[in-house]
Amino acid sequence: MTSTTSTALQSVLDDIQKRPGTGEVIPIINPVTEEQITEFTDCGPEAVDDAVARAKAAFEAGVWADLPGRERAKVMWRIADLIEEHAEEFAQIDSANTGMPLMQSRLVVPTSAEFFRYYAGWCSKVSGSAYDVKTSGIASDSYVSQHAYTLKEPYGVVGLIFPWNGPIFNACAKLAPALAAGCSSVVKPAEETPLSAILLDRLIAEAGVPEGVVNLLTGYGHTAGAAITAHPDVEKVAFTGSTDVGKEIVRASAGNLKKVMLELGGKSPVLIFDDADLNQAIMMAAMGIFVHSGQGCVCGSRIFVQRGVYDQVVEGIAMMANNIKLGGPDEEGCVSGPLISEKQLKRVMGYIDEGKSGGVNVVTGGHRLDRKGYFVHPTVLADVDRDLKLYQEEIFGPVVTVLPFDDDDEAVAMANETPYGLAATAWTTNLSRAHTLAKKLQAGTVTINCQLVFDHSVPFGGYKQSGWGHEFGPEGLDAYLKTKSVWAQL
Ligand code: NAD
Repeated sequence: MTSTTSTALQSVLDDIQKRPGTGEVIPIINPVTEEQITEFTDCGPEAVDDAVARAKAAFEAGVWADLPGRERAKVMWRIADLIEEHAEEFAQIDSANTGMPLMQSRLVVPTSAEFFRYYAGWCSKVSGSAYDVKTSGIASDSYVSQHAYTLKEPYGVVGLIFPWNGPIFNACAKLAPALAAGCSSVVKPAEETPLSAILLDRLIAEAGVPEGVVNLLTGYGHTAGAAITAHPDVEKVAFTGSTDVGKEIVRASAGNLKKVMLELGGKSPVLIFDDADLNQAIMMAAMGIFVHSGQGCVCGSRIFVQRGVYDQVVEGIAMMANNIKLGGPDEEGCVSGPLISEKQLKRVMGYIDEGKSGGVNVVTGGHRLDRKGYFVHPTVLADVDRDLKLYQEEIFGPVVTVLPFDDDDEAVAMANETPYGLAATAWTTNLSRAHTLAKKLQAGTVTINCQLVFDHSVPFGGYKQSGWGHEFGPEGLDAYLKTKSVWAQL
């Protein structure tokens, strides 16, 4: 770490300790060393009230929402430039906070900055539609002409709540479209990983976003997050996190019937057919679950393999699992880091223990590493009873089940049998089969002969209990806009 980056880390650590708070003290733990990095005080519900009041005042004053789109776009480009100027600081902060390999954090920062450029382009393109309408007049055979049109208007104050698995990415994915639409926001990162949001908050101000438009809150979900979702002046909540908390948010938002966008959990299936490029499929299916120690929403945690190539694929994925080097951000050649917390470690080990006592075949892994840190050996499970919780529920760790199938129908039936519907993958060289599967798989994203693909322009959202609404692409902007219909008699 250079002196500039260590100064940046120190300055956000100093900042978070000074933030006003009235609630419990929250420790931030380094998941590689299990040592406390710092602690801060939960902001408490009064800080949420203040933040919402500031956001509402800024919105009503029109300091941001009423700027011409092209002016908002210029500021958003500046935010992107500033993030890139501070890229190494962001990477160091997020790696120190999450334990993620530096190589990975360094890739994530420019991608995160790009959200602001992508949505900057949309600032000047927010528009409605026009309709020439003829409605029935008083006499049955007469018509009256009206000119009708729609206006796209920002929601107002939006609550942005997101998890720890990609701190800077998650923050930018929500803030960029919210700002492009003209909304004011209250922003709550995960209590485990609030540090990079502090640097981002500073840069947003430096870029020229007026005071009160973006308001950062640091605290727990059950306190600060719950206060945001229940707040009568918050018009919409955009949430990324677990399906259980997503349901709580829906219940809490009923008070003012606030709109809710949910990006939730997954239990994504990966189907490998015997005609696939097996080397590629094995490599990508393994990376698709073991990267970031399985802490990615689209991780393919259930792999189904056509029976004739089953043994070969299980062996290949196990070999990949055994070759993945786990370690802290500074350890040479590491591909993956630890789980985020002791709580997650216990959760993941709980599922593995359920499997062991339920008679699954632990092909490899199944244990934590014999070292400090919340590291779990990439784990491959076969002969899995599909009633087990480890097969039905999201584990959010480096654990994959691999089961055989005989034909397409059986593969689709198993792929679709959980309550989740975030992503699904098919590995096959048969084009007709691939596109038939794309229709049949109940998932918001289907990837064919690829995994872990992403672009800012392509909408992303969950089917079934994996979410409501979309992020990214034009749909991601629309999520922060409401539609008004205007009628004028001609
Ligand atoms: P989580 O649901 O526990 O927490 C997510 C955020 O919600 C945190 O900021 C937390 O403080 C807050 N929160 C918790 N309780 C709350 C409440 N009652 N009211 C308001 N806010 C509350 O999730 P997690 O364990 O931090 O993250 C992992 C989950 O996130 C996984 O389920 C994963 O699949 C999901 N995820 C989904 C996507 C996606 O795009 N679909 C992306 C990343 C992660």
